[in-house]
Amino acid sequence: MSDLRALIMALPNPIILIDGLDRISGANRPAKDMIGADCDGWHYITALRQPVILDAVEETSRDAVTRRVRYLGNDGARDTTWDVTVSRADVSSGTMVVLSFQDITAVEEAGEMRRNFVANVSHEMRTPLTSLMGFIETLRGPARGDDEAQMRFLAIMEQEAGRMHALVEDLLALSRVEGQERVRPTEAVDLGVLLGEVIASLTPLLAAKGVTIEIETANDTVEVLGDRAQLWQVLSNLIENAIKYGADKDTVTVRITAPTHQPALRQIGVQISVIDHGEGIAAHHIPRLTERFYRIDSHRSREVGGTGLGLAITKHIINRHRGRLRIESIVGQGADFTVILPIGTGTVET
Ligand code: ADP
Repeated sequence: MSDLRALIMALPNPIILIDGLDRISGANRPAKDMIGADCDGWHYITALRQPVILDAVEETSRDAVTRRVRYLGNDGARDTTWDVTVSRADVSSGTMVVLSFQDITAVEEAGEMRRNFVANVSHEMRTPLTSLMGFIETLRGPARGDDEAQMRFLAIMEQEAGRMHALVEDLLALSRVEGQERVRPTEAVDLGVLLGEVIASLTPLLAAKGVTIEIETANDTVEVLGDRAQLWQVLSNLIENAIKYGADKDTVTVRITAPTHQPALRQIGVQISVIDHGEGIAAHHIPRLTERFYRIDSHRSREVGGTGLGLAITKHIINRHRGRLRIESIVGQGADFTVILPIGTGTVET
């Protein structure tokens, strides 16, 4: 192999060389992983198969114009998308077509996520907005002069506007925590005191559902290095969910452990568990709960004022604190959401 050829073969992106007889005369390791280890000498049509790329090879070998096409692959675990540059090289032995692949799967996925996100936000906004517009029309027309109907409709409008407000607040919170994810929090936060404040703020909801909170904490003060406002949000989201989705007139337990070695973090940390006795969560939903707008029962979530963003925000905040969120549940018996937080900036044990 010539030095130049050996250099080309050592490049990290997949490279395929096709000779003047339309045979594959060279493919580096990443290319072989994609199209087959024994591809040397194959006709390129057998190896590549997708019409756009076959057309590009044929045309480029004829007119020497460099082309860029898309190639769809699969790495065994997932579908992949490649941007392929097809160019012609005139070498001493004749002409050669060079295919150079660039993996654009992540870019494609990010685009897809953005499109889905915009579609979801629009969908969530549309329902309350349509309802508000309908009521405005009714207040101007049929309900004009009907005081009782007006009061009733205004109450519903307030509720719908509140829903939109909650959604906008959660969207802003999400974008804020995403932006800060790499910034280490630095405040000393007393978890017991924080918990007391969060529970106090949830008193109206607790009373409405007849739920009692049972607190189990270590005897000593448990302090972590964190962002107080964000940890407030985590506790508030989890306890609020336990109240909303747990059983009515039941107990929600919040347990804060003393600092001990946490295998999941490989350092000293604490666990904060929020345990309810509601209907629980089927196993296949659990890994998806922290996705934006993922809800098991969207109708129920909207009814209890949920936006579907609470756990996504919670997950980002926990990531920022270099912690973990563990969700366990037995259907029919309840759910246990446990946050594992490192207590400080201590180095990770190896
Ligand atoms: P929402 O605003 O809908 O409550 P979250 O992101 O907080 O959004 O939660 C996502 C979904 O996870 C909820 O819609 C609900 O289906 C489910 N969920 C969250 N907490 C619990 C719980 N304690 N018990 C049962 N289901 C829960």
